[in-house]
Amino acid sequence: MKLSTLVKIINFVKNVSDKVLPYSFQDFLLRKYGRGTYLSQVEFHLVDHCNLNCAHCNHFTPLADENFCKIDDIISDFKKLKVIFDNIGKIFILGGEPLLHPEILRILEPLREIYPKSEIIIITNGILLNKQNDEFFSTLKKYNIAVSMTHYPIKVDYEGWIKRFEEMGIKAYYFSLDRNKMKKQNLDINGKSDKNKAFSMCHEKNCHFVRDGKLYVCTPVPNICFLNKYFNLNFKVGKNDYIDLNKVKSASKINAIFKKPIDFCKYCTDKEIEFDTYRVSRKEINEWVKN
Ligand code: SF4
Ligand code: SF4
Repeated sequence: MKLSTLVKIINFVKNVSDKVLPYSFQDFLLRKYGRGTYLSQVEFHLVDHCNLNCAHCNHFTPLADENFCKIDDIISDFKKLKVIFDNIGKIFILGGEPLLHPEILRILEPLREIYPKSEIIIITNGILLNKQNDEFFSTLKKYNIAVSMTHYPIKVDYEGWIKRFEEMGIKAYYFSLDRNKMKKQNLDINGKSDKNKAFSMCHEKNCHFVRDGKLYVCTPVPNICFLNKYFNLNFKVGKNDYIDLNKVKSASKINAIFKKPIDFCKYCTDKEIEFDTYRVSRKEINEWVKN
C-alpha cells in the first residue's frame, strides 16, 4: 500500500472517531493506548503572587514579588505545546491567585482555540469571585471554562458558589483541604534525599508546568526561584530539570522523561509526609525547608 493511501486511511479513522466517540472515551483511549501526542495535564501561572499567602504553599507564592504574567507569552507557550501534543487532558490556570490578573479573560479564547477538547479549569481560592462582573461569567460559559475552588478555612461561601455556577451553566468544583491541613514541603537544602524514593512517593510528578518556553515535570522546580530569592538560597535548577520546547519536539520523548526522577528530586523529601494546621504564612524558612 502506498504511504499516501495509508495516511488518508489514518486521517479518515481519526476524523470519524473524533466525531463519533464521546470525548471522555477518546480521552480514555488516548491515555491508555496513546497516539503518542497526549499530555495528561499542564498548569501555568497567570500571576505569581496571591491574596491569601498560605504557609507551606508549594508554589512559594507568599515569597513572590507581585507579577502579572504576560498573556502573549502564555499563548506562545501553548502554541509550542500544540506542535508537540495533539491533545492535553486538563489545563489548569492558576498562580498565585489567577483572579488577580486584570486580563484573565484575554487568555480564555486563545486557549480554547488551541486546545478545543481540553478541560480548562481556573483554580481559585474564591476570595475575588464576588468581585467578578457578568462578562467574566458569560466568558467562562462561552468557552466552557470550569472553576475549581480550593476550600480554605476562610469566609467564602464555597457551597453557595457551586450552586450559583450550576445555575449559570458553568462547571464548578470545590476541593477541601484535608481537615484544614497543609502539607509541609520539608525541602532538603543539601540535596541529600534519595531522589528515586522522593520521586516514587511524590504526589506532584503529574503537575506538569509550562513557563517561558520550558515544560517542567512539576510545580516546585519553576517556582523555586521565589524561595531562592527571598532567603538567598541556592536550590539549583539544571538543564536536565526541564524540557526546552524550542529544542525537544517529541511527545514520546517528553513523556519518557516525565516517568523518571530528575536531578531536582534530590531536594524533595524522601520521608513520610508531614502536615501542619492551616495558617497564613509568616514567611519563615522552615515553612518550606527542613530544619
Ligand atoms: S491560596 Fe493557593 S496559591 Fe495562594 S498562597 Fe494559598 S496555596 Fe498558595
Ligand atoms: S522534583 Fe521530583 S520529587 Fe520533587 S516535586 Fe518534582 S517530581 Fe516530585
